[in-house]
Amino acid sequence: MYTKDYCPYCVAAKTLLRSKGVDWREINIGNEPRLREEMINLSGGRRTVPQIFVDGVCLGGYDDVSALESRGVLDHILGKTHREKDMAEKHKVIIMGSGPAGLTAAIYAARANLEPVVVAGNEPGGQLTTTTEVENFPGYPDGVQGPQLMEDLKKQAERFGTRFKTGNVDKVDLSQRPYTLHLESGDVLSAEALIISTGASAKWLGLESEQKYRNRGVSACATCDGFFFKGKPIAVVGGGDTALEEALYLTNFATVVHLIHRRNEFRGSVIMQERVLKHPKIKVVWDSVVDEVLGDNAKGVVGARLKNVKTGELTSLVVDGVFMAIGHQPNTAVFNGQLETDDLGYLKVKSHSTYTSVEGVFACGDVADHVYRQAITAAGTGCMAAIDAERWLGSQE
Ligand SMILES: Cc1cc2nc3c(=O)[nH]c(=O)nc-3n(C[C@H](O)[C@H](O)[C@H](O)COP(=O)(O)OP(=O)(O)OC[C@H]3O[C@@H](n4cnc5c(N)ncnc54)[C@H](O)[C@@H]3O)c2cc1C
Repeated sequence: MYTKDYCPYCVAAKTLLRSKGVDWREINIGNEPRLREEMINLSGGRRTVPQIFVDGVCLGGYDDVSALESRGVLDHILGKTHREKDMAEKHKVIIMGSGPAGLTAAIYAARANLEPVVVAGNEPGGQLTTTTEVENFPGYPDGVQGPQLMEDLKKQAERFGTRFKTGNVDKVDLSQRPYTLHLESGDVLSAEALIISTGASAKWLGLESEQKYRNRGVSACATCDGFFFKGKPIAVVGGGDTALEEALYLTNFATVVHLIHRRNEFRGSVIMQERVLKHPKIKVVWDSVVDEVLGDNAKGVVGARLKNVKTGELTSLVVDGVFMAIGHQPNTAVFNGQLETDDLGYLKVKSHSTYTSVEGVFACGDVADHVYRQAITAAGTGCMAAIDAERWLGSQE
């Protein structure tokens, strides 16, 4: 880069290149007529600084280089993508996420000698580490604590040689193979095949009391926890299809299901609405939100204080459980624009497989499933993803 002192564009250009992590040599033309002539000759007659050259080719000044950056081609020109790929730790299979889907994929991939690396994410073990009793995972006749189940799966994956990295992946490049993953730790990994199992997070209301009584009466999963509310009154919060389905499902256990919805009509399908409105055990509370989950330290949830959004009136319900059914957020932000998703943001996979819209990239578990969202279905599709990846890698040899 040809520069001179007191040149704000030179400073801006240097800042840009520094952000790219590339090395450069600075030639300060200052009062050196020889260097000035050299720059003018090499740049085809340009008489402004800075002038930036890559491998002997003049890119121009700061404006030209920042225009290349805006068009997304500067990295390529700087050979940065190639350099990163050369520096990256190379792996055959990388698995993003360490919930039931990711760890099952790891067990299968490791047993197939693919030497997988699991990037565990900021919630090692996934959603089940936030719960207590899991009674529906096959193989545990007496139930198992969520964290214990995940520890068992991790040990099983390690037994066959799976290696683990901590933290999240915060940037991926799926535009060319091998795929590049940037970890929060600063590590850069490259993968011939990538298995995505980053899950989906339940949306919560954001109340302090909701957080306080989570797993002690507050739940976001009727299939998981409905059973614990046999013969008890409960409340469901939401108005979409999921909320209607969960309310209907919970009538199998509860004495009464109060369905709390902030509007005066449902968003769910007409058939579901009819079934809900006709059900003798479901009582709909329109135009209302949960103002506070009521409870005590010994019993957990004992009720809910509701607020009518139109009148502001506060009322109380006596319930033993409050089920939040206001949606889930699939953890896909890091793939934005690189993989096809459905309208809700879940990764799209080809029918009866875990193939995503990019070859060699597979998705399993809740991140690609807004319907079942169970540990066993996540584990099942994790197995599918490892088998799909193994066969696909085989077909590339
Ligand atoms: C409170 C609670 C109780 C539940 N109880 C049951 C039950 O009893 N039975 C049942 O079958 N199911 C239950 N579920 C549902 C079950 O936990 C999920 O269906 C299952 O965990 C989904 O598995 P998964 O592997 O797809 O994703 P998750 O378990 O959500 O794991 C996602 C993983 O991806 C990682 N990750 C996210 N983003 C990134 C990133 N950018 N880079 C790297 N890693 C990333 C996370 O750290 C995490 O390790 C429950 C859920 C909750 C919340």
